[in-house]
Amino acid sequence: MLKPFDDALAEALQQSLPNLKLKPAEARYLEEPRGKYSAHPTFVAAPLSTDMVAEVVSFAGSARFGIQPYGGGTGLVGGQVTPEGPTPLILSLENLNAIREVYPSEQALIAEAGATISDIQAAAEDLGLLFPLSYGSQDSAQIGAGLSVNSGGLNVLRYGMARNLCLGIEAVLRWHCPSWLEASAERQHRLRPSQLADWCRGHARRHHCGFTEACCEAGARRDRLSGGFRPGRRA
Ligand SMILES: Cc1cc2nc3c(=O)[nH]c(=O)nc-3n(C[C@H](O)[C@H](O)[C@H](O)COP(=O)(O)OP(=O)(O)OC[C@H]3O[C@@H](n4cnc5c(N)ncnc54)[C@H](O)[C@@H]3O)c2cc1C
Repeated sequence: MLKPFDDALAEALQQSLPNLKLKPAEARYLEEPRGKYSAHPTFVAAPLSTDMVAEVVSFAGSARFGIQPYGGGTGLVGGQVTPEGPTPLILSLENLNAIREVYPSEQALIAEAGATISDIQAAAEDLGLLFPLSYGSQDSAQIGAGLSVNSGGLNVLRYGMARNLCLGIEAVLRWHCPSWLEASAERQHRLRPSQLADWCRGHARRHHCGFTEACCEAGARRDRLSGGFRPGRRA
């Protein structure tokens, strides 16, 4: 049984991880944009590195509280808030927002999960390439969330969904056990794209931690290619 994340657990987590940014959650973390779903007051942790994410997940497993991954908060189906059940810790990926590596000749780049869709579009544009995932919330919406929900958007008919543009991910999760709480230790895994969809379907969203890095495919601009950009050809 999960415990609610309360003041005592917050104090214990902060003592265990002094460098972790942990604070009471502001209203924006507790309510989805249209006000249709809202969560009980809790804390938000914003790790600065993948290792720190792993440490938070490990602590959550030992102390038996839930984690709510949080991206840009723009989701329209309430996935970013937990209205019922034991109150979880909100885990925001907002500080993991770098473009880590670019591979122009491979038409690929590696972005941290908290990078926004617009950040990735701009990084691709700097390489003379097109990252075609695009939707109205792209200035706030993050790639980790986009992969989690397999977002679509304006170009989906031609270029596919978010996962079609993903060559690989790094995730922190409780891997070997169907129940997150019963797993013995957290692991960081690099999943093959083919495993991604199954993983997303198979894990309750509030019981896993989530993606910390994604390798995204950016295709050459159509006007520079006779055949056009076909995402996922190497997946
Ligand atoms: C104006 C507007 C237009 C939109 N247009 C579209 C559209 O065309 N197509 C479309 O598909 N959606 C659309 N959306 C919905 C939404 O923006 C997308 O689903 C987007 O991918 C959510 O990203 P986010 O970072 O805001 O995620 P959040 O709302 O914060 O979270 C969404 C889900 O992802 C999970 N999550 C967040 N980060 C991670 C992570 N690192 N690892 C694992 N799970 C994580 C959360 O727990 C939650 O379940 C639109 C929304 C708005 C407001």
